[in-house]
Amino acid sequence: MSVMDIFETMDYGPAPEAASPALAWLKEHQPFNLFINNQWVQPASGQYLDSVNPANGKVLTQVASANSADVDAAVAAASAAFEKWGKTPGHVRARYLYALARQIQKHSRLLAVLEALDNGKSIRETRDIDIPLVARHFYYHAGWAQLMASELPGYQPLGVVGQIIPWNFPLLMLAWKIAPAIAMGNTVVLKPARYTPLTALKFAEIVQESGLPPGVINILTGEASQVGEALVRHPGIKKIAFTGSTDVGRSIRRATAGSGKKLSLELGGKSPFIVFDDADLDSVVEGVVDAIWFNQGQVCCAGSRLLVQENIADRLLSKLLIRMERLRVGDPLDKAIDIGAIVSSTQLQEIQRLVARGVEEGAQVWQPSWACPTDGYFFPPTLFTNVSPASTIAQVEIFGPVLVAMTFRTPAEAVELANNTRYGLAASVWSDNINLALDIAPKIKAGSVWVNCTNLFDASSGFGGYRESGFGREGGKEGLYEYVRHAWEAQLASPSGYTPTGRAANGASSSSFTDSLLAGIDDELDGLSAPETIELPAIDRTSKLFIAGKQARPDSGYSRTVYDPAGQAIGEVGDGNRKDLRNAVEAAHKASGWATGTTHNRAQILYYMAENLSVREDEFARRIVQQTGRSHVDAMSEVQTVISRLFSYAAWTDKFEGGVHRPPLRGVVLAMPEAIGVIGIACPDDYPLLGFISLVAPAIAMGNTIVVIPSQIAPLSATDSYQVFETSDLPAGVVNIVTGERDALSQVLAEHDDVDAMWYFGTAEGSKRVELASAGNMKRTWVNYGHTRNWLDSVQGEGQEFLRAATQVKNIWVPYGE
Ligand code: NAD
Ligand code: MN
Repeated sequence: MSVMDIFETMDYGPAPEAASPALAWLKEHQPFNLFINNQWVQPASGQYLDSVNPANGKVLTQVASANSADVDAAVAAASAAFEKWGKTPGHVRARYLYALARQIQKHSRLLAVLEALDNGKSIRETRDIDIPLVARHFYYHAGWAQLMASELPGYQPLGVVGQIIPWNFPLLMLAWKIAPAIAMGNTVVLKPARYTPLTALKFAEIVQESGLPPGVINILTGEASQVGEALVRHPGIKKIAFTGSTDVGRSIRRATAGSGKKLSLELGGKSPFIVFDDADLDSVVEGVVDAIWFNQGQVCCAGSRLLVQENIADRLLSKLLIRMERLRVGDPLDKAIDIGAIVSSTQLQEIQRLVARGVEEGAQVWQPSWACPTDGYFFPPTLFTNVSPASTIAQVEIFGPVLVAMTFRTPAEAVELANNTRYGLAASVWSDNINLALDIAPKIKAGSVWVNCTNLFDASSGFGGYRESGFGREGGKEGLYEYVRHAWEAQLASPSGYTPTGRAANGASSSSFTDSLLAGIDDELDGLSAPETIELPAIDRTSKLFIAGKQARPDSGYSRTVYDPAGQAIGEVGDGNRKDLRNAVEAAHKASGWATGTTHNRAQILYYMAENLSVREDEFARRIVQQTGRSHVDAMSEVQTVISRLFSYAAWTDKFEGGVHRPPLRGVVLAMPEAIGVIGIACPDDYPLLGFISLVAPAIAMGNTIVVIPSQIAPLSATDSYQVFETSDLPAGVVNIVTGERDALSQVLAEHDDVDAMWYFGTAEGSKRVELASAGNMKRTWVNYGHTRNWLDSVQGEGQEFLRAATQVKNIWVPYGE
């Protein structure tokens, strides 16, 4: 045999990693109990579940099956621990996180092997990707614990957090959840996935070794129906952080509706991998391997839809088929394999079912000529061509090594295809033309966009979805806000005393708020004569709705009478209904160009609104007096605050900027706060003008277009503002106003699939209904659970909290260098 022959016929030999240290560790601990209060506790049920190695179907060990009694015990332990941990200085918490990071590094090989055994993913990936990222996450968040006091002033931890994670990156998801939670001073109860509990249990041992105070971290293994649901419903838990499927995310949204629990959901995806004709195709092929065959394709942000420019499709596909033929599927502990085992037989069957569906649907399937091992749950890399964009395999998340390819002609078509999904987790864009790539990136509705790269993660750069991929971010500074609240939120006032007819004056808003405001009021107001009684104009006209920049009659043909606090009729407004809202949402969508205009232009319009309002401040003040019975001085101060607030958001418009992250990579990550889209807004009843503008201004400042339901009992300040919008050059459709019954209208908006977020400031019951209804398209919600905030106060009534609610962060990864 010549050297040349050897070279041609050369193949990989096995390069196995020894399983024995991990198996010995398992044997020593078997069976595994629950980790509560830094102790191993037997489950109340006395039952244990098998954990299986998917590469051979054999049982690795047994882990405890927790039930709701164990959840109670763990939450009690975490609550007790929170008393101290929540007040522990940031530096002390930082030291503990640092200790965890160090211990993870020290045990990295054992963790990597355990993860490969339990999940079926390759040791190459667990060793080089999962475990290093886990350590990085704890280091990074040790830093935030250290800096919390200075960088998040006024914020405090939430309390006990319930965390539920999937099986695809078991330890990494644990790190994404636990590190920020404990860095911010919360305590946690975490449930690993049923198939992959083992690295979490090794982590529990590390927690013990690192001397964390008992109860700060509790880990409960078991079934979703036992542990998961009990965590979600537990009244002692202040927040649920969930990663998993969109269906379960939706059920958790519904289960927590109205409870006041904070919620972050990292859900599924069907992410596009877009290849333009000037891309370097050899890099693209390696990119595809990393996009869909990394972790057996069991990646929420897997590039599972290959969108390729038509003129290069054949060339790319033939290169891809050659590469697929050379991929190696096999023993996860063999360092030379590319693709390991699918996590379970159920998951394997689901992949098989969807692949069969693709064939039925008429797509062309491609698989390598070789066969997979049969002693475990393996599936070969698979490619579909001739896929129609509406077919099941193009729309449904397969969560396996299955890629579907489609073609496009123009960049605009690429964007349209890319966004033709209910998800929005990630995207990759391949082109050697950086101008093109950076033009496309903002147009794709996804939380992460990778330019000429894919599936990169780092603790510094937030990760999370748009649309039905969920809400909330993990990583980066933005991820911290998921685990804190304003200190003042702890003392929120009870519900407003307004009644729907407005006859009961709200004592709180006309006395205490006002007193504090009056104490600091300008000289400007000092000289003002304050007519306590003003002449009421006769009922003149019915204020119409405001849709697409025009005043519109309500579809119902009905009006609602507006009363003053004494019960006198003072005006009429349209009684809006579902049809009016539909028109308003449509108008808001048509105005989406608002988001892509310059921030300078938006700021100018907000300043202009303030200017136009100030010209008519007395008229607006009188209207407030008329609707609320408050004094004229008081009403004037509300108008002054509104003008100041408009200035604040005009100022913020071109100053609420993103960041440039520096992850350990040659490149940068551009974190851009983007508009959410169409936001439905139900305004509070107190402060007819201020409550309205305090919500409208931040939403439009950030580029959203909105449908607003003004105060139900005092809507006239909002309807008076039409002329202000018109004379301020606000484009038609950016602000649409539908008056009527707040809760009924809110329900319609919360259910509407073309509304991207819903803000609701009303009753506790209404808040719950909005959260429930929002689960349809997983829209983001911001509700007040019936609590009033002090709208006059610049800390409670304006600022970054509002801007964060009005934006979602997109992280665009741009590697550089040749
Ligand atoms: P899953 O939703 O079935 O389970 C996720 C976790 O939730 C598990 O721990 C499970 O036991 C628990 N659970 C299930 N039903 C529950 C319920 N009713 N109440 C409370 N907890 C419950 O998902 P999976 O099959 O484990 O993971 C695959 C899914 O996760 C995919 O859809 C994938 O896209 C998604 N995922 C998303 C991300 C992300 O960051 N966005 C990351 C990884 C996985
Ligand atoms: Mn397993």
